Amino acid sequence: CNLDVFNKFSISEFFATYSSFFASLPSRFSGEDDGSYTDDWKIISAKYRASKNYSCEYCAVDLSKNKHLLHTHHKSGVKTDNNLYNLQALCIDCHRKQAHHGHLFVHHEDMVTINNLRRNQGQLKQDNWREVFKFADAALHGLLAKCEHDRCIKPVVAYEMLGGSDEIIAELELAWPKSKNCIVINDDHARVARSQGWHVWTMIEAMDDFLNFKVSVNLGAPPRAS
Ligand SMILES: [Zn+2]
Ligand SMILES: [Zn+2]
Repeated sequence: CNLDVFNKFSISEFFATYSSFFASLPSRFSGEDDGSYTDDWKIISAKYRASKNYSCEYCAVDLSKNKHLLHTHHKSGVKTDNNLYNLQALCIDCHRKQAHHGHLFVHHEDMVTINNLRRNQGQLKQDNWREVFKFADAALHGLLAKCEHDRCIKPVVAYEMLGGSDEIIAELELAWPKSKNCIVINDDHARVARSQGWHVWTMIEAMDDFLNFKVSVNLGAPPRAS
């Protein structure tokens, strides 16, 4: 019954899914300092990340100039096992996409930073849906799964909208450039996209009105007036 859903609602699970949509989060949801690490963990983690040249072992983004965005992950989940085979340097985006890591809070601006670095370093290849999921904000994975299942055209993740002199005027989380549809999290960027004639959807709108969303994305048909 409904009460059951209410009782089972977990605030940490909720933030796990949607954390990047919030500007800030109570500190108890962020970070990894839950006391289950060994005393020398900070030193071990720092050494390990240096040994990997501050690059993510999954998406390969080089974070040597943004070291705070790189974590050391315990592959087995056992945080006291600091053997090399159990360690993996992961950017915070790849880290939070690991099983049981949804509690990791990623600021939206950090997500934008990581995707900008991936783009500049040539890692932001998006030839298939798997890569779309790899680079997209975890908060968008539900919508993306629906898009893939219902045969929507594949979106571009972290699309840079360019102005008249090729300057970047907006960052779109997901974009379908041919039909000028996009999902945007930042309000200012949503305004810019609208001013350029794009149809801007929030994730909730796209989920709620999925049939229209799909038509708009796939054919570029004007959305139904509401
Ligand atoms: Zn990564
Ligand atoms: Zn981890």
